[in-house]
Amino acid sequence: MHTRRTMMALSGAGLASACASLRTPDPRNRLPPVRVDEARIIRIDVGLRPFRPSGFRVEREAFGDKALIHNYGHGGGGITLSWGTAKLALDLGYDSSISEYAVLGCGAVGLATARLLQERGAKVRLYARALPPNTTSNVAGAQWWPASVYDYSATTPDYRAQHVEASRFAFRRFQSLVGDAYGVEWEKNYNLASRPITSYPAREDEPMRQFVINQRDLLPHEHNFPRPFVREFETMMIETPLYLRRMEADVRLAGAEIVVREFSSAAEIQALPERVIFNCTGLGAGALFGDAEIMPARGQLVILLPQPEIAYNTIAREGYMFGRRDGVVLGGTFERGEWSLEPDPTDIAQIIAGHQSIFSAMG
Ligand SMILES: Cc1cc2nc3c(=O)[nH]c(=O)nc-3n(C[C@H](O)[C@H](O)[C@H](O)COP(=O)(O)OP(=O)(O)OC[C@H]3O[C@@H](n4cnc5c(N)ncnc54)[C@H](O)[C@@H]3O)c2cc1C
Repeated sequence: MHTRRTMMALSGAGLASACASLRTPDPRNRLPPVRVDEARIIRIDVGLRPFRPSGFRVEREAFGDKALIHNYGHGGGGITLSWGTAKLALDLGYDSSISEYAVLGCGAVGLATARLLQERGAKVRLYARALPPNTTSNVAGAQWWPASVYDYSATTPDYRAQHVEASRFAFRRFQSLVGDAYGVEWEKNYNLASRPITSYPAREDEPMRQFVINQRDLLPHEHNFPRPFVREFETMMIETPLYLRRMEADVRLAGAEIVVREFSSAAEIQALPERVIFNCTGLGAGALFGDAEIMPARGQLVILLPQPEIAYNTIAREGYMFGRRDGVVLGGTFERGEWSLEPDPTDIAQIIAGHQSIFSAMG
């Protein structure tokens, strides 16, 4: 028979072992670590995000006797938002009495714009200096989340409403593409922090919170990351090389002509035969249309050999890791005003060392 004293001792021991097991990761919750090793690097990518502090520009402009609809400047969220701003652009520029349209640009934004026009029965001619795989869109990570698209203080309430509307449309459209054909899939993300996480990826009271799926703050025994605070949530991931290849094929299959051509002035664009022109030239729009606000935000990525067991992402102070099927992507710098496409060895070394420190410490 247990006395009150032995009961207390037993419950004390039980509590102590419960506390220990709350701290020690349950083997069932252990995730495999990324093997961050220079020998495993398959390439270094550098891309220039088309960043505008006030956010993307979707706007209609009279252009001589033509209509010009801008759809560019998506910063670090252009894959995510592509279908959504394409929809906003069509709302401004599609006219059922006009059957032929020009789309400038063959990145994620131009391709989505072309597809939505085709879905309405329009004939599209797409003009671009570079096609996949040679676009910025190919370099993207690409997590479905519109991150680093604007500076909050430079945005208006109207812009923020457009941002949510574009996100909503794109969120649904990408869900219809989940699967091997387009390289879109759902994946778990882990935000690693040394302080409690309150605002990432979206605060509870923000409209963008509706797109954060299955969010949970993990208890210490529920993960083996070397950080005290871990937030789990799920996003779609877009394997950009496959996705863009497939989108380009879809656009061609639906009858678009793709013309490889570089424009050096708005006057050359003015001379195109189409009466309605969608401008999806990303960073190129600055020089073409005199937008002084747009700037590059350079991102450098280290891609490691694929590790099929790494089917998750991490986001930490040291950078992000996206476990893609075609490689493990380690990023990501965000350098405003930096135009060079040459990797910076110091930044690359930091990306590698930062991720080594995380993954080598996974229990
Ligand atoms: C390192 C990095 C990581 C990123 N991660 C993510 C992410 O996780 N999620 C996400 O959603 N986004 C991400 N992005 C952002 C995303 O890549 C961009 O926002 C997106 O690619 C912009 O698409 P776009 O079609 O506007 O531009 P682009 O892909 O640059 O396409 C522009 C097109 O216009 C053409 N063009 C430009 N100028 C001219 C001209 N003068 N004449 C003729 N054609 C012209 C180009 O040749 C090209 O075909 C990332 C970007 C980088 C660099």
